[in-house]
Amino acid sequence: GAAITFDGVGKSYPKTGGGSVTALEGISFEVPAGSITGIIGRSGAGKSTLLRMVNGLEQPTAGTITVAGRDVGRARGAALREIRREVGMIFQHFNLLSSRTVEDNVALPMEIAGIPAAKIRPRVRDLIARVGLEQLAGRYPAELSGGQKQRVGIARALATDPKVLLSDEATSALDPETTRTVLRLLADINRDLGLTILLITHEMAVVRDIASHVAVIEGGRIVEQGLTYDVFTAP
Ligand code: ADP
Ligand code: ADP
Repeated sequence: GAAITFDGVGKSYPKTGGGSVTALEGISFEVPAGSITGIIGRSGAGKSTLLRMVNGLEQPTAGTITVAGRDVGRARGAALREIRREVGMIFQHFNLLSSRTVEDNVALPMEIAGIPAAKIRPRVRDLIARVGLEQLAGRYPAELSGGQKQRVGIARALATDPKVLLSDEATSALDPETTRTVLRLLADINRDLGLTILLITHEMAVVRDIASHVAVIEGGRIVEQGLTYDVFTAP
C-alpha cells in the first residue's frame, strides 16, 4: 500500500501585489509504504512546498494528500497533531535547540506530546543508542560535528515513533564521507523499523545511494517517476 498519496495536488501562494505564484500543479504520486522515496529537482522546483504539505505546515490549494490514511490538508486541531506525531522530520541545518543537551533535544517531542518523564528517559536512551551517540548524551549542539548534529536530529525525529520520516536536504550541509554515514543510518532505520522515508534533495548521488523510488520535479510538476533504477538507466 501507499504511506503517502498525492492526488491532483496543487499549491499557489498569493503575491504581495495581487495575483499568485503557482509552486506546484497536478501532483499525483504515491510513496510506497516501507520505501525510501526521493524527490529530486533544482532550487525553486517546489520540493520544500511538497514536503511541508505532508505534515500540514502548508495546506494544498487543490487536490488531496493522504498520510497514514488521513486527509492532512483538511485536518485541524487534534487531528493535525495526531498526524504530526506520525510524521518525523529532519532538516538541512538540523534545527536543534542550542540551550538543550543532546538528550534534552531528543526528549522534546515527547515532552510536547505529554508523555510522562518516567517513560521519556529510557526511550531517549534507546534512541541515542540507535544513532550511536551514547558517549555524547550530555553535550550541547555547539560541541558536536555536523554529522553528530544530524544524528541528534534523526533521534529526535524518531521520538514519537512515527510511520513516516521526512528529510529536507538532510545531508546538504555535510561533507561526502559524513553524508555516506548519515545515509547508511537512514537506510538501517528504514530496514529495521519499517519506516517510510520521503526525502527531498537537489543531489542525484543521494537518490542513487539510498532511494528505491524517485520522482523528478521541474517547475512545480512531476516530469518522471518510478523505480530509481529505471528512471536513472532509461535511454
Ligand atoms: P530552500 O529552497 O533551501 O528551502 P529558500 O530560501 O527557497 O530555501 O526558502 C526559505 C523559506 O522562504 C521557506 O520557508 C520558503 O517557504 C520561503 N520562501 C521561498 N520563496 C519565497 C517567496 N517567493 N516568498 C516568500 N517566501 C518564500
Ligand atoms: P524548492 O524547495 O524546490 O527550492 P520551494 O518549494 O521552496 O522549492 O519553492 C517553489 C516555488 O514556490 C518558488 O517559486 C518559491 O519562490 C515559491 N514559494 C515557496 N514558498 C513560498 C511562500 N511562502 N510564499 C510565496 N512563494 C513561495
